[in-house]
Amino acid sequence: MMRAMQEAEMGDDVYGEDPTVNRLQSKAARISGHEDALFFPSGTQSNLVALLTHCSRADEYIVAQTAHTYKYEGGGAAALGGIQPQPMERSPDGTLDPERIQSLIKEDDFHFAKTRLVALENTTTDGMAVSSSYCQEMRQLCDCNGLSLHLDGARIFNAAIELKVDVMELTRHFDSVSICLSKGLGAPVGSVLTGSHAFIDSARRWRKVVGGGMRQAGMIAAAGIYALDHNVSRLSEDHANAAYLATRLSEFDDLSIEFGGARTNMVFFRLKNGNHDEFASYAESRGVLFTGRDPARLVTHKDLARSDIDLALERLSAYFA
Ligand SMILES: *Cc1c(COP(=O)(O)O)cnc(C)c1O
Repeated sequence: MMRAMQEAEMGDDVYGEDPTVNRLQSKAARISGHEDALFFPSGTQSNLVALLTHCSRADEYIVAQTAHTYKYEGGGAAALGGIQPQPMERSPDGTLDPERIQSLIKEDDFHFAKTRLVALENTTTDGMAVSSSYCQEMRQLCDCNGLSLHLDGARIFNAAIELKVDVMELTRHFDSVSICLSKGLGAPVGSVLTGSHAFIDSARRWRKVVGGGMRQAGMIAAAGIYALDHNVSRLSEDHANAAYLATRLSEFDDLSIEFGGARTNMVFFRLKNGNHDEFASYAESRGVLFTGRDPARLVTHKDLARSDIDLALERLSAYFA
């Protein structure tokens, strides 16, 4: 990847003249089954621009309470776009109940914000893959109600690997899809937003507005191309490692594993008794990092081998001993 970055051919991408960025965008469009794509520095910005492109001020979008765009992106769509979220509870399987969505769509009345968009995630922020048939059902629901459909597909390759389907099976139902290159795929930075030519033209304007137009971005785009070429199928190793980690952690009497095991490359656990913060700082001082406390989240990735997981387990077991 470093070599690909070093050797990348570059130009000015603000003018669409960086050949490496263009190559990445064509590739992302092809993979997602869309006409076009646009490169972004982060997934947060890519989702934000998607929302700004789909919705105007005083429009609203329907979204899960727990969704990344709603909960973990600083309220950007409201702050910068005047876009009102209509959050809703998620079902235990990671989906949004179609009947509930239907009941939340506001009728055309000057009292109400205009419902414009449904935004889904795959995998969900907490690692659940949702099926292609569900996405298709959401497409029909949106078509019947004149809504657009956006996918936060930051982790879409994890979903495709988990469900053993082609990525396009999961993305083709959507008007726009945001894909992270910097998570499991291992690029240093970057996301791509895919959609129709018209959608991407409009998104390019919004990307400029929020300061995401980058000049000689080919160097980081090269990392994205490398990631798409080399780091997708190996995600199954991360999933297998997470399953292994969950199994081994469940052998600790003091821990309970959430959701009956790993979700894609994530494992969630709770401490049955004791002090979560104390446990977290003990683990951190021994090189094992997790986010959250109750439950805490462990994530497996490309730079972790099975032997690293064994080492982490050994260090954690010392705490309970
Ligand atoms: C990481 C992530 C994002 C945001 O990506 P950044 O590049 O960190 O801004 C969006 N959605 C989901 C589901 C994510 O996991």
